[in-house]
Amino acid sequence: MTKRVYLETIGCQMNVLDSELIASSLVQAGYELVDSPRNADTILYNTCSVRQHAEDKIYSALGRLRPLKERKPQTIIGVLGCMAQKDQELIFRRAGHVDLVIGPGQLSRLPEILEEVASQRHREPRLEVSLDRMKERRALVEESFAKFDPPRPPELRSSPFQAMVRIMFGCDKFCTYCIVPKVRGPEQSRPAAEIVSEIRCLAADGCQEVTLLGQTVNSYEDPSKGQTQRLSDLLARLHDIEGLRRIKFVTNYPRHMTDDLLQAVRDLPKVSPYLHVPAQSGSNEQLKRMKRGYTVEYYREMIERIRSIIPGAAITSDFIVGFCGETEEDFQQSVDLVRWARFKNSFIFKYSERPGTKAAGTLPDDVPDEVKRRRNNDLLAVQNAISLEDTLPLVGKDLEVLVEGPSKAAKKRASVGNEIVQLVGRSVWDHIVVFDGPRALVGQILPVRIEKADAFTLFGTMPRLKG
Ligand code: SF4
Repeated sequence: MTKRVYLETIGCQMNVLDSELIASSLVQAGYELVDSPRNADTILYNTCSVRQHAEDKIYSALGRLRPLKERKPQTIIGVLGCMAQKDQELIFRRAGHVDLVIGPGQLSRLPEILEEVASQRHREPRLEVSLDRMKERRALVEESFAKFDPPRPPELRSSPFQAMVRIMFGCDKFCTYCIVPKVRGPEQSRPAAEIVSEIRCLAADGCQEVTLLGQTVNSYEDPSKGQTQRLSDLLARLHDIEGLRRIKFVTNYPRHMTDDLLQAVRDLPKVSPYLHVPAQSGSNEQLKRMKRGYTVEYYREMIERIRSIIPGAAITSDFIVGFCGETEEDFQQSVDLVRWARFKNSFIFKYSERPGTKAAGTLPDDVPDEVKRRRNNDLLAVQNAISLEDTLPLVGKDLEVLVEGPSKAAKKRASVGNEIVQLVGRSVWDHIVVFDGPRALVGQILPVRIEKADAFTLFGTMPRLKG
């Protein structure tokens, strides 16, 4: 009998990638993916713990499943990923109808665990998580976060022409607001040879663009014996792969933005000149409280280095507003940094206290929510004005765009064959470009003439389709 699984994902690109890998391993084990919990006999949530809101969403979804579980008690309900590692037994206490809680370091065993749970006559809640890095030796903890990078067919990726590839996981930085080092474990890089071989297979399958993923991707170091390969060396090896046309990497940690890496981005044409380097704050006082490990002066000097080594690079950032103790003056320093750095765009988040982090135990979450909201809107307005100033000069220019697929609007409308639809693609600087064209262009890299721009989207036409 076919086993039907519903898998829902919340969170960052790392989680989206994990879900692709989970889906692949389950399909390989004979499962069929379905698009509604109602049609499934196994319901899985791959969760995120970065903000309270993301966790609340999962607990609400689990609550809505209670009547279904009462009607169909054999249905297996599982919570996977970061919230599973963080909350562990608490999930069974808050949602007694959950059967499985599996941390990100145990995903490689998911098919086998599901098999065991399904075969039990009297089900016991099953908890499979990695060791607590605050309590055990590093080597044991590393081992308990098992590698999980099985091969996946193109149809299980969000696009057959693009792929995310994990090059490292975990984090050793312990920023005071962040739960990642606890839930994703110690920083561990994958061997370069393994990454090269995975990407070679992807390229042979028609993949044009890879995005290398890591929490602090630029601290990559090949763990193989006798190797001293850093991210710059890995980029050079990937650059030689036939068929591969674009390489991106996220997320960068400011202190590891070394000159060899910037020179590799400048010298290797397949590497996109797009760098996401989160600042988090423009105030030294706040950076210290966040334990980010650099000053705003260091960050500014790094931006200047990027601009001088890679002229025209698109730099993006993240900011947290309303972190513990943030004064109006601290906030203004973040505004000043955004104005000075002229980021292509910034992802701005209101601080959300995470139990288990250093900040939650030692720093009061003392900025009122309405102040956080106002600062969020104000910083966003400053950033958006800069983004628009940067996109307007692109009007009238041709940009090389990798065509990702039909736009959301076009997906909703039924279309047939190769008719003209609204397509979405991306430039090497990560601009989103919308234009009309035949579906057959999906997966191609081609020039698009920009006709109109707003802060986030460029609207264009294909030169040869113009009337
Ligand atoms: S660098 Fe800091 S913010 Fe980023 S994942 Fe590591 S601890 Fe979290």
